[in-house]
Amino acid sequence: MEKLIAGAAKLGLHLSPNQLEQFRTYYRELTEWNRRINLTAITGYEEVQVKHFLDSLTVALAWQPGSGDNNMIDVGTGAGMPGLPLKILFPQIRLVLLDATAKKADFLEHIRQKLEMDDVGIVVGRAEEIARLSRYREQFDVVLSRAVATLPTLAELTLPFCKVGGRVIAQKKGDIDLEVDQASGAIITLGGRLREVKRIDLEELPDDRYLVVIDKILPTPEKYPRRAGMPGKRPIG
Ligand code: SAH
Repeated sequence: MEKLIAGAAKLGLHLSPNQLEQFRTYYRELTEWNRRINLTAITGYEEVQVKHFLDSLTVALAWQPGSGDNNMIDVGTGAGMPGLPLKILFPQIRLVLLDATAKKADFLEHIRQKLEMDDVGIVVGRAEEIARLSRYREQFDVVLSRAVATLPTLAELTLPFCKVGGRVIAQKKGDIDLEVDQASGAIITLGGRLREVKRIDLEELPDDRYLVVIDKILPTPEKYPRRAGMPGKRPIG
Protein backbone atom coordinates (compact mmCIF):
# COMPACT_ATOMS: atom_id res chain seq x y z
CA MET A 1 0.00 0.00 0.00
CA GLU A 2 3.00 2.30 -0.51
CA LYS A 3 1.28 4.43 -3.15
CA LEU A 4 -1.74 4.94 -0.97
CA ILE A 5 0.35 5.74 2.10
CA ALA A 6 2.41 8.32 0.20
CA GLY A 7 -0.57 9.95 -1.49
CA ALA A 8 -2.62 10.06 1.70
CA ALA A 9 0.28 11.69 3.55
CA LYS A 10 0.18 14.52 1.00
CA LEU A 11 -3.46 15.03 1.93
CA GLY A 12 -2.43 15.16 5.59
CA LEU A 13 -3.95 11.74 6.23
CA HIS A 14 -2.21 8.96 8.11
CA LEU A 15 -3.40 5.40 7.91
CA SER A 16 -3.01 2.96 10.78
CA PRO A 17 -1.79 -0.64 10.26
CA ASN A 18 -5.37 -1.77 10.78
CA GLN A 19 -6.68 0.62 8.12
CA LEU A 20 -3.99 -0.52 5.68
CA GLU A 21 -5.02 -4.11 6.31
CA GLN A 22 -8.61 -3.15 5.49
CA PHE A 23 -7.46 -1.58 2.21
CA ARG A 24 -5.50 -4.75 1.38
CA THR A 25 -8.58 -6.84 2.04
CA TYR A 26 -10.67 -4.49 -0.10
CA TYR A 27 -8.16 -4.77 -2.95
CA ARG A 28 -8.01 -8.55 -2.74
CA GLU A 29 -11.78 -9.06 -2.68
CA LEU A 30 -12.43 -6.45 -5.36
CA THR A 31 -10.08 -8.05 -7.86
CA GLU A 32 -11.21 -11.57 -6.93
CA TRP A 33 -14.91 -10.76 -7.47
CA ASN A 34 -14.09 -8.75 -10.56
CA ARG A 35 -13.26 -12.00 -12.38
CA ARG A 36 -16.88 -13.04 -12.10
CA ILE A 37 -18.81 -9.79 -12.11
CA ASN A 38 -17.84 -6.58 -13.77
CA LEU A 39 -16.97 -4.17 -10.97
CA THR A 40 -14.07 -2.14 -12.31
CA ALA A 41 -11.70 -1.76 -15.25
CA ILE A 42 -8.94 -0.75 -12.85
CA THR A 43 -7.33 -3.82 -11.28
CA GLY A 44 -3.54 -3.28 -10.99
CA TYR A 45 -2.29 -3.11 -7.41
CA GLU A 46 -0.80 0.39 -7.70
CA GLU A 47 -3.56 1.65 -9.96
CA VAL A 48 -6.30 0.67 -7.51
CA GLN A 49 -4.41 2.30 -4.64
CA VAL A 50 -4.27 5.58 -6.53
CA LYS A 51 -7.28 5.76 -8.84
CA HIS A 52 -9.76 4.14 -6.47
CA PHE A 53 -8.57 4.43 -2.87
CA LEU A 54 -6.57 7.65 -2.87
CA ASP A 55 -9.03 9.32 -5.23
CA SER A 56 -11.87 8.43 -2.85
CA LEU A 57 -9.94 9.83 0.12
CA THR A 58 -9.63 13.23 -1.56
CA VAL A 59 -13.19 13.82 -0.32
CA ALA A 60 -11.50 14.51 3.03
CA LEU A 61 -10.39 17.84 1.53
CA ALA A 62 -14.03 18.93 1.63
CA TRP A 63 -15.30 17.06 4.67
CA GLN A 64 -13.87 15.70 7.91
CA PRO A 65 -15.81 14.37 10.87
CA GLY A 66 -17.18 17.07 13.14
CA SER A 67 -19.76 16.93 15.87
CA GLY A 68 -22.78 14.96 14.81
CA ASP A 69 -22.72 15.38 11.03
CA ASN A 70 -21.72 11.85 10.16
CA ASN A 71 -24.68 10.49 8.21
CA MET A 72 -23.61 9.81 4.63
CA ILE A 73 -24.99 8.21 1.50
CA ASP A 74 -22.95 7.30 -1.56
CA VAL A 75 -25.21 7.48 -4.62
CA GLY A 76 -24.23 5.09 -7.43
CA THR A 77 -21.48 3.60 -5.33
CA GLY A 78 -20.67 0.69 -7.67
CA ALA A 79 -18.05 -1.37 -5.85
CA GLY A 80 -18.17 1.05 -2.91
CA MET A 81 -16.42 4.20 -4.01
CA PRO A 82 -15.89 6.74 -2.64
CA GLY A 83 -17.94 5.66 0.40
CA LEU A 84 -16.01 2.64 1.66
CA PRO A 85 -12.49 4.07 1.53
CA LEU A 86 -13.81 7.10 3.41
CA LYS A 87 -15.45 4.85 5.99
CA ILE A 88 -12.14 3.00 6.45
CA LEU A 89 -10.48 6.36 7.05
CA PHE A 90 -13.20 7.69 9.35
CA PRO A 91 -14.91 4.74 11.09
CA GLN A 92 -17.40 7.02 12.83
CA ILE A 93 -19.20 7.68 9.53
CA ARG A 94 -22.68 6.18 9.33
CA LEU A 95 -22.78 5.14 5.74
CA VAL A 96 -25.41 4.01 3.26
CA LEU A 97 -24.24 2.63 -0.08
CA LEU A 98 -26.79 2.92 -2.89
CA ASP A 99 -26.60 1.33 -6.32
CA ALA A 100 -29.12 0.30 -8.93
CA THR A 101 -27.34 -2.96 -9.76
CA ALA A 102 -28.10 -6.02 -7.61
CA LYS A 103 -24.86 -7.79 -8.50
CA LYS A 104 -22.81 -4.90 -7.24
CA ALA A 105 -24.82 -4.98 -4.04
CA ASP A 106 -23.85 -8.65 -3.62
CA PHE A 107 -20.24 -7.59 -3.65
CA LEU A 108 -21.00 -4.77 -1.22
CA GLU A 109 -22.62 -7.24 1.21
CA HIS A 110 -19.58 -9.44 0.96
CA ILE A 111 -17.01 -6.71 1.47
CA ARG A 112 -19.01 -5.21 4.34
CA GLN A 113 -18.72 -8.54 6.15
CA LYS A 114 -15.03 -8.89 5.34
CA LEU A 115 -14.35 -5.40 6.67
CA GLU A 116 -16.60 -6.02 9.69
CA MET A 117 -18.65 -2.91 9.13
CA ASP A 118 -21.98 -3.75 10.71
CA ASP A 119 -23.16 -0.16 10.54
CA VAL A 120 -22.96 0.20 6.75
CA GLY A 121 -26.35 0.07 5.03
CA ILE A 122 -26.68 -1.30 1.50
CA VAL A 123 -29.62 -0.30 -0.66
CA VAL A 124 -30.38 -1.60 -4.14
CA GLY A 125 -32.47 0.73 -6.25
CA ARG A 126 -32.57 3.81 -8.41
CA ALA A 127 -31.79 7.07 -6.69
CA GLU A 128 -34.96 8.54 -8.27
CA GLU A 129 -37.08 6.03 -6.34
CA ILE A 130 -35.12 5.66 -3.13
CA ALA A 131 -35.04 9.46 -2.63
CA ARG A 132 -38.85 9.39 -2.44
CA LEU A 133 -38.84 7.17 0.65
CA SER A 134 -39.14 9.13 3.89
CA ARG A 135 -36.41 6.98 5.45
CA TYR A 136 -33.90 8.38 2.98
CA ARG A 137 -35.29 11.69 1.78
CA GLU A 138 -33.43 14.66 3.28
CA GLN A 139 -31.85 12.42 5.91
CA PHE A 140 -28.14 12.80 5.18
CA ASP A 141 -25.52 15.30 6.28
CA VAL A 142 -23.32 14.43 3.33
CA VAL A 143 -24.20 12.97 -0.06
CA LEU A 144 -21.27 11.53 -2.00
CA SER A 145 -21.13 10.55 -5.65
CA ARG A 146 -18.38 9.69 -8.11
CA ALA A 147 -18.59 8.98 -11.83
CA VAL A 148 -22.37 8.61 -12.01
CA ALA A 149 -23.76 11.38 -14.23
CA THR A 150 -23.15 14.88 -15.50
CA LEU A 151 -23.76 17.56 -12.91
CA PRO A 152 -27.24 18.74 -13.99
CA THR A 153 -28.47 15.13 -13.75
CA LEU A 154 -26.42 14.36 -10.67
CA ALA A 155 -27.92 17.31 -8.80
CA GLU A 156 -31.35 15.68 -9.10
CA LEU A 157 -30.02 12.27 -8.03
CA THR A 158 -28.22 13.60 -4.95
CA LEU A 159 -29.74 16.82 -3.50
CA PRO A 160 -33.06 15.17 -2.50
CA PHE A 161 -31.15 12.92 -0.05
CA CYS A 162 -29.48 15.85 1.62
CA LYS A 163 -30.71 17.51 4.83
CA VAL A 164 -31.07 21.26 4.80
CA GLY A 165 -27.74 22.35 6.26
CA GLY A 166 -25.94 19.38 4.71
CA ARG A 167 -23.97 19.17 1.51
CA VAL A 168 -23.37 17.20 -1.65
CA ILE A 169 -19.77 16.37 -2.54
CA ALA A 170 -19.48 15.19 -6.14
CA GLN A 171 -16.21 13.95 -7.61
CA LYS A 172 -15.85 15.10 -11.19
CA LYS A 173 -13.36 15.08 -14.05
CA GLY A 174 -13.25 17.04 -17.29
CA ASP A 175 -14.67 20.41 -18.33
CA ILE A 176 -15.91 21.42 -14.92
CA ASP A 177 -16.72 25.06 -15.69
CA LEU A 178 -19.13 24.07 -18.42
CA GLU A 179 -20.77 21.41 -16.28
CA VAL A 180 -21.18 23.71 -13.30
CA ASP A 181 -22.59 26.38 -15.56
CA GLN A 182 -25.10 23.97 -17.05
CA ALA A 183 -26.09 22.72 -13.60
CA SER A 184 -26.66 26.11 -12.00
CA GLY A 185 -30.43 26.13 -12.68
CA ALA A 186 -30.89 22.57 -11.42
CA ILE A 187 -28.92 23.24 -8.23
CA ILE A 188 -31.10 26.23 -7.33
CA THR A 189 -34.34 24.47 -8.25
CA LEU A 190 -33.47 21.52 -6.01
CA GLY A 191 -32.65 23.66 -2.96
CA GLY A 192 -28.90 23.80 -3.39
CA ARG A 193 -26.28 26.51 -3.57
CA LEU A 194 -22.84 25.96 -5.06
CA ARG A 195 -20.25 26.36 -2.33
CA GLU A 196 -17.01 25.61 -4.17
CA VAL A 197 -15.25 23.71 -6.90
CA LYS A 198 -12.04 22.37 -5.45
CA ARG A 199 -9.27 21.23 -7.77
CA ILE A 200 -7.36 18.17 -6.62
CA ASP A 201 -3.69 18.97 -6.78
CA LEU A 202 -1.83 15.66 -6.44
CA GLU A 203 0.86 14.39 -8.76
CA GLU A 204 -0.59 10.89 -8.35
CA LEU A 205 -3.83 12.09 -9.97
CA PRO A 206 -2.64 14.30 -12.81
CA ASP A 207 -5.83 14.34 -14.88
CA ASP A 208 -7.95 17.27 -13.75
CA ARG A 209 -10.10 16.09 -10.87
CA TYR A 210 -12.45 18.23 -8.82
CA LEU A 211 -14.72 18.15 -5.84
CA VAL A 212 -17.96 20.00 -6.47
CA VAL A 213 -19.42 21.00 -3.12
CA ILE A 214 -23.07 22.04 -3.01
CA ASP A 215 -24.77 23.26 0.17
CA LYS A 216 -28.38 22.32 0.75
CA ILE A 217 -30.09 25.52 1.78
CA LEU A 218 -33.79 24.79 1.14
CA PRO A 219 -35.92 21.64 1.01
CA THR A 220 -36.14 19.98 -2.40
CA PRO A 221 -39.60 20.57 -3.93
CA GLU A 222 -41.91 17.55 -3.67
CA LYS A 223 -41.89 16.84 -7.41
CA TYR A 224 -38.18 15.98 -7.48
CA PRO A 225 -36.59 13.66 -8.28
CA ARG A 226 -38.75 12.89 -11.28
CA ARG A 227 -39.38 9.31 -12.34
CA ALA A 228 -36.46 7.00 -13.08
CA GLY A 229 -34.55 8.01 -16.19
CA MET A 230 -35.91 11.55 -16.44
CA PRO A 231 -33.02 13.30 -14.67
CA GLY A 232 -30.71 11.83 -17.30
CA LYS A 233 -32.98 12.26 -20.30
CA ARG A 234 -34.15 15.79 -19.54
CA PRO A 235 -31.89 17.45 -17.02
CA ILE A 236 -33.48 20.41 -15.21
CA GLY A 237 -32.66 23.68 -16.94
N1 SAH B 1 -19.12 5.41 -7.82
C1 SAH B 1 -18.46 4.22 -8.35
C2 SAH B 1 -19.22 3.61 -9.54
C3 SAH B 1 -19.34 4.48 -10.74
S1 SAH B 1 -20.17 3.66 -12.07
C4 SAH B 1 -17.04 4.57 -8.72
O1 SAH B 1 -16.73 5.74 -8.85
O2 SAH B 1 -16.23 3.65 -8.88
C5 SAH B 1 -21.81 4.33 -11.89
C6 SAH B 1 -22.67 3.52 -10.93
O3 SAH B 1 -23.84 4.26 -10.70
C7 SAH B 1 -23.10 2.17 -11.48
O4 SAH B 1 -22.77 1.17 -10.55
C8 SAH B 1 -24.60 2.29 -11.66
O5 SAH B 1 -25.29 1.09 -11.36
C9 SAH B 1 -24.95 3.40 -10.68
N2 SAH B 1 -26.10 4.21 -11.06
C10 SAH B 1 -26.28 4.91 -12.21
N3 SAH B 1 -27.46 5.58 -12.19
C11 SAH B 1 -28.04 5.29 -10.99
C12 SAH B 1 -29.29 5.67 -10.37
N4 SAH B 1 -30.14 6.47 -11.01
N5 SAH B 1 -29.55 5.20 -9.15
C13 SAH B 1 -28.67 4.37 -8.51
N6 SAH B 1 -27.49 3.97 -9.04
C14 SAH B 1 -27.18 4.43 -10.28
